[in-house]
Amino acid sequence: MSIKDIITVPNEMLKRISEPIEKVGTNEKKLINDLFETMYNSNGIGLAAVQVGILKRILVIDVSAEDEKKNPLSFINPSIKKVSDETSIYEEGCLSIPETFIEIERPKICEVEYIDIDGKKRNLKCDGLLSTCLQHEINHLDGKLIIDHLSKLKKDIIIKKISKSKRNPDRILV
Ligand code: ZN
Repeated sequence: MSIKDIITVPNEMLKRISEPIEKVGTNEKKLINDLFETMYNSNGIGLAAVQVGILKRILVIDVSAEDEKKNPLSFINPSIKKVSDETSIYEEGCLSIPETFIEIERPKICEVEYIDIDGKKRNLKCDGLLSTCLQHEINHLDGKLIIDHLSKLKKDIIIKKISKSKRNPDRILV
């Protein structure tokens, strides 16, 4: 297992559509372990493969509270089959968009079809935080970010701010 670097805006890769997995093999299992390790290391509750620069339709989630037992969930090729009319609003952040939180309204309940780590097809009906988190992560697989819910002007301001505030003393140009 290894902790991967998380890519951030304005990295163009975040806008690309991830490729479906044909067969769950060793590479996919290793990637899932790496995603969990990277997510826990950054105190995130969800992480999609594209966020570590790998364009595969894989994501991991753990919405358990800090004082609860860990509940790691991994989803391969997830797709949303049904959503509720009822919505809920969370203030969402994103590991790929530092220091930015945006109130986003999404369907409260969603039903998702996916493949698990053993290659089995599964269905899951989610509510609350899990539902929102899953929708956020599936958006990543389709190249959509939380800032895409904002006007272009607001979005540009956020991206500019992040690009400026990024200080990387190890960065060299040779
Ligand atoms: Zn995100």
